[in-house]
Amino acid sequence: MSSNEWYEVIKQKDHLIVIREKLDRIEPHYLTVYDNLYLIRGNNECLLIDTGCGIFPLKPIIEKFLNGKKLIVINTHSHFDHVGGNYEFDKVYIHKNEKGVISAPIDLKYLKNESSSIILDQCNKLNWILPPVKQIIPLNGGEMFDLGGIKVECIHSPGHSPGSISLFTDKSELFTADVAHYGTMFLPPKDNLSVIINSIKELIELSNKKGVQEIYPSHEDFNVSIELLTDLAAHLENIDQYWENKIPNRANKSWEINVGKFKFLIRVGIKERRDFKSRLAQN
Ligand SMILES: [Zn+2]
Repeated sequence: MSSNEWYEVIKQKDHLIVIREKLDRIEPHYLTVYDNLYLIRGNNECLLIDTGCGIFPLKPIIEKFLNGKKLIVINTHSHFDHVGGNYEFDKVYIHKNEKGVISAPIDLKYLKNESSSIILDQCNKLNWILPPVKQIIPLNGGEMFDLGGIKVECIHSPGHSPGSISLFTDKSELFTADVAHYGTMFLPPKDNLSVIINSIKELIELSNKKGVQEIYPSHEDFNVSIELLTDLAAHLENIDQYWENKIPNRANKSWEINVGKFKFLIRVGIKERRDFKSRLAQN
């Protein structure tokens, strides 16, 4: 399979290209269908949000839309499905809290039991390893990238991971990465949910203040409304209400709770470990 066949490219607007890959064909345990990558095109420079799983070459897809302009690459966080293609680029920006993670190569061997033969053939070509990017530039949050005709601001939104970054443009678009999306959301233990709830509330405040109309998450549906954020915050704040409906998810070592458009996978807290094990044994 070629990159052209693998990646789905959607020209959302003149300045915004959406590039999707089917995550469920690579790692079905994530219970997530799509990885969404975004290319924002300014008059002078372009900005790529995340590099996907890195199994199929991404750079040739991106280059078609650059028209020779300089490219800035940002990782929203360090998880495999967002940084795999880093090695194709010269340098990558990431929050300082997750710089260390992406300086190590990614071993693909763990996919051996999960993926389809198309993916395994491709991993074989890569010798089962994705090298790290050569240069990593740390972000603190608050940085502004002026692409020419469009400005993009970085916002530190911890919770899904310690260095998660959201991006906000002066064209009223918000890119929420894995901080907020429909479908399966990977969350910290119940006792630490306040961190991500605070991040989501900050994004709601910003959206109201700046009149954000369109939200572009890194998984599943994109171009969704601010209702994503308000619904998500409300459900997470009322997690006690749903707590008794939780079921143990063995593959992800998490509690699974299904509420409306969200499936929450909440990491098992230290105090819950015994309960989790006994629930697994019952199932
Ligand atoms: Zn993700």
